[in-house]
Amino acid sequence: MKISCKETVFTYNVYHMVKAFFPEAEIEQYVDAGQEPLVKLELDGGSCFCVLPADVRGRAGMQAKKREVTRLVYHFLSEMTGKELAWGMLTGVRPTKLAMQIVARERSEERAVDVLQRDYAVAPPKAKLAVEIAEREKALLAPLDIHQGFSLYVGIPFCPSICSYCSFGSLSVDLWKGQMDAYLDALCKELAVVAVQMRGQKLNTIYIGGGTPTTLEPGQLERLLCHIDDAFAPSHGGGEPSRIYRGGGAAGQHHAGKIRSASFAPGEPHFHQSADDAAKNARFGWQAAYRAGSGGKLSVGKGTRV
Ligand code: SF4
Repeated sequence: MKISCKETVFTYNVYHMVKAFFPEAEIEQYVDAGQEPLVKLELDGGSCFCVLPADVRGRAGMQAKKREVTRLVYHFLSEMTGKELAWGMLTGVRPTKLAMQIVARERSEERAVDVLQRDYAVAPPKAKLAVEIAEREKALLAPLDIHQGFSLYVGIPFCPSICSYCSFGSLSVDLWKGQMDAYLDALCKELAVVAVQMRGQKLNTIYIGGGTPTTLEPGQLERLLCHIDDAFAPSHGGGEPSRIYRGGGAAGQHHAGKIRSASFAPGEPHFHQSADDAAKNARFGWQAAYRAGSGGKLSVGKGTRV
């Protein structure tokens, strides 16, 4: 299959939309600034689909254009395959970010669910789930002092396998196991510097994300937690954390780390399409192909091959 985009900005969503419908497909993707269509799909079997500039006329701003392009591609693929995706045209790992924006705008859970269904083709149970999670996040974030305080994010960039849709910096733990202690050494040094820089400000939250933090051995995790405690507790008002949230997501702690374990029981639905398909998608090396073909960057030009 071939995807040709007029601008780099369309490549990510369109690629992942096609991959969501055809997870096993080999896809070549190009950026061709000289072509007329914003996006041109050439599918196996001879089907072809284009999104023209006229199709997004009236959409103000690049984000709106990008969303419309993705929407048109989704509906074409859905019609062509007869399939609907649970998360509709959403790609990426945090549908609740979008759900929170919509809830804030619509000021009604019901209307937010409707918008997710109507404008993003999200299936009703997933739309409801995203809005429920957004409401829970809102309640958790409300008490934080965002003016005088800060949140600490500690990244553990290792995962058991690398998901095809991943946009995080993450490395295979099998390949990098021997370097994890060295990474922790560097991380602890950086945390010590940050602790000094932030002295006097209130530490609102500590988030250990990734990657997958549980790729650390128990001893390594303990070392990290003790170091955070030593570096931040005395100068930041310290004390016991008021709540601890544990991740339970199959696809990585960054997805579920903010969810209270009691309300995220095993078997509860995942939070995004990609996670639902994680096992399937994990076999396909979008990242590897991307990196191998472009040295980590997608350059723009006629016939650029990713
Ligand atoms: S588990 Fe998360 S961080 Fe790790 S590869 Fe998958 S999406 Fe990326």
